[in-house]
Amino acid sequence: MSSEVAARRDAKKLVRSPSGLRMVPEHRAFGSPFGLEEPQWVPDKECPRCMQCDAKFDFLTRKHHCRRCGKCFCDKCCGQKVPLRRMCFVDPVRQCAECALVSHKEAEFYDKQLKVLLSGATFLVTFGNSEKPETMVCRLSNNQRYLLLDGDSRHEIDIAHISTVQILTEGFPPGEKDTHTYTSLLGSQPASEGGNARATGMSLRFAAPGAESLTQLKLTAGEDAHASRRQSTAWLAAMHKATKLLYESRDQ
Ligand SMILES: [Zn+2]
Ligand SMILES: [Zn+2]
Repeated sequence: MSSEVAARRDAKKLVRSPSGLRMVPEHRAFGSPFGLEEPQWVPDKECPRCMQCDAKFDFLTRKHHCRRCGKCFCDKCCGQKVPLRRMCFVDPVRQCAECALVSHKEAEFYDKQLKVLLSGATFLVTFGNSEKPETMVCRLSNNQRYLLLDGDSRHEIDIAHISTVQILTEGFPPGEKDTHTYTSLLGSQPASEGGNARATGMSLRFAAPGAESLTQLKLTAGEDAHASRRQSTAWLAAMHKATKLLYESRDQ
């Protein structure tokens, strides 16, 4: 990829919406896969009362829209201003209690896990049925759209083309030794919260451009240096959180 193309992919611009200032990708096609669209606001005439506490709106009790769900609330029920990075807001924005809770959790992803994913980690990588794993650095691209694999060969996987992700863990369920358990990401506990479970690898399937069937890719945390092993484990845990966000937004 040329640096010119890379710069084009990462270019951003400021836009003002009724909800606040947003920093969005210059080219819509290069938006983050974690991004969410702004909701339609419930029209004023359809909500004479707060949708949480039922207070009637008047001159004293003013109406506010939650920036995340677009519903109408009084100031008391919608007073929290919380960062909403998934909608590209520059500043924290007004949200109802339910949405604020979700956004707080996501803020942790942006502050911690996303940084881990962007900085990358080293893995033994196997493509398809290949016998020979290759040592590669795997990281998320700056615009969050691609997994970049860098070793003797280089690969770029579009996040939007990934159909399934499984985290390979060991030490789970408790009591069983040396069993490797594949944990599906949908509806499962993150490896880091699963008691003894520790992420050791990841298996994913994606549609490569031009290929008719799905390609399988397996990443395994290497056994060599202790420090890089820890980095790989952290990267896998971060990828687990990222995948949950992606599936949640695909389901909406
Ligand atoms: Zn209220
Ligand atoms: Zn809300």
